[in-house]
Amino acid sequence: MKTLTAPRLTLVVPCYNEEPMLPKSAPVLSAILHRLMDSNQIATDSKILFVDDGSRDHTWTIITQLRQADTLFTGLKFSRNFGQEAALMAGMQVAHPFSDLIITIDADLQDDPRVIGAMVQQAKEGFDIVYGVRNDRSTDTWFKRTTAEAFYWTMGKLGVELVPDHSDFRLLSHRAVTALMTYTESTPFIRGIIPKLGFPSTKLYYKRQPRAAGTSKYPLKRMLRFALSGIFSLSLAPLRAIMYLGFTICTAATIALLWLLGLHLNGLTTNGALLTSLWLLGGLQLIGLGVIGQYVGQILRETQHRPHFIIQTETFSTAFLAAPLT
Ligand code: UDP
Ligand code: MG
Repeated sequence: MKTLTAPRLTLVVPCYNEEPMLPKSAPVLSAILHRLMDSNQIATDSKILFVDDGSRDHTWTIITQLRQADTLFTGLKFSRNFGQEAALMAGMQVAHPFSDLIITIDADLQDDPRVIGAMVQQAKEGFDIVYGVRNDRSTDTWFKRTTAEAFYWTMGKLGVELVPDHSDFRLLSHRAVTALMTYTESTPFIRGIIPKLGFPSTKLYYKRQPRAAGTSKYPLKRMLRFALSGIFSLSLAPLRAIMYLGFTICTAATIALLWLLGLHLNGLTTNGALLTSLWLLGGLQLIGLGVIGQYVGQILRETQHRPHFIIQTETFSTAFLAAPLT
């Protein structure tokens, strides 16, 4: 770290169709960073990096206007929508050479930015990772809360270590980001990878706020896809589960066969369960194939080595060309 007293901080903010939101969140984030800079808690060349994840509205125009008004703001624009994880990875990758600390935060002020100062303080005390954790989700809908709980429960059962009620509001030290960048998988599930880094970490609690403007970018279908990508990229438990199920069915079928043989030898005939068991077995086989298919698909994606994101325009590193970290 360049200097522990006033580290250079970059806020990485993924934005997808956040036109109604940015005029509200930008001044709030800026006020917080300016206050930290004025009190010498962070370096005066700290930045806010908005990552426009291929928005279809005027998000990028707003980012450009913000930059013209204050050089605290910088931007990076994808050529199309690559998803929040890609936006976070790109933002961190671009900011990394120039930042002592990186904090990722949503654009919609649902993660309380007033915690940022405390996060920086924790980093100065030696923590490489500071998780923002929601201790009150009462502003979320019942549906969002229940699906989130089901998600954390399932992931726990599948052996994926996650910090409950933490999403993507977190601080990472320079070396934590260096380590994160070595995870080059095509669909990184960042919140599942971070606990694997193993650096000293701590949690800071905040109350989850309602979205101040715009709408959630995660309808049920996208939420499911996100959860499945987390499971298939971080857990092999479903494959094991299929194998155990196969063993159990084989054992049960062997016992049933012996029983049927016994009936047959005693001159009795049966045909009842034959058809239903065929359908059952067919269904189980399809589920098994589907799960294996997911992993095979994952392998295909990894071997294709496709870019994880494509940057169309970027104004962050130009702000620092003369001043990389020493
Ligand atoms: N986001 C993104 N790309 C996407 C979807 C979302 O960059 O494809 C951003 C979005 O602009 C926001 C953050 O990710 O800053 C979290 O999204 P959202 O608030 O919609 O998620 P929710 O809070 O509903 O889970
Ligand atoms: Mg949100």
